[in-house]
Amino acid sequence: MSNCLFCKIASGDISATVVYQGDRIVAFRDLNPQAPTHVLVIPRTHVSTLNELTADRDGLVGEMVRRAALIAKDLGHAEAGYRTVFNCNADAGQTVFHIHLHLLAGRTLEWPPG
Ligand code: AMP
Ligand code: ZN
Repeated sequence: MSNCLFCKIASGDISATVVYQGDRIVAFRDLNPQAPTHVLVIPRTHVSTLNELTADRDGLVGEMVRRAALIAKDLGHAEAGYRTVFNCNADAGQTVFHIHLHLLAGRTLEWPPG
């Protein structure tokens, strides 16, 4: 999608601190980190929100989740723990409408979230 921030990060038109690049997904550091490790895992293809997911994307979403776990492990968080979150629409605070999986780690994370 031409005017989507995360499509532009996926294509390299906007720079980000990329921690993983694959054929289908990209992961990069969040610009406004909420924890010592805050990485966003995105698909290269544009999907606005979780509500737009279709069955043909099941493998893609699985790859996003597995990649988040591998990044957490690479960064040394597997044992202590970490959180993965998809926000969907206004009540969850979604601000960028290209799906992204937040990976948060490096501090104790409260539950329930605010
Ligand atoms: P959400 O509120 O779930 O839509 O999350 C969007 C996230 O994108 C926020 O945590 C922002 O800090 C982050 N963000 C916005 N612009 C950028 C950018 N240019 N590079 C990296 N992260 C960004
Ligand atoms: Zn997009």
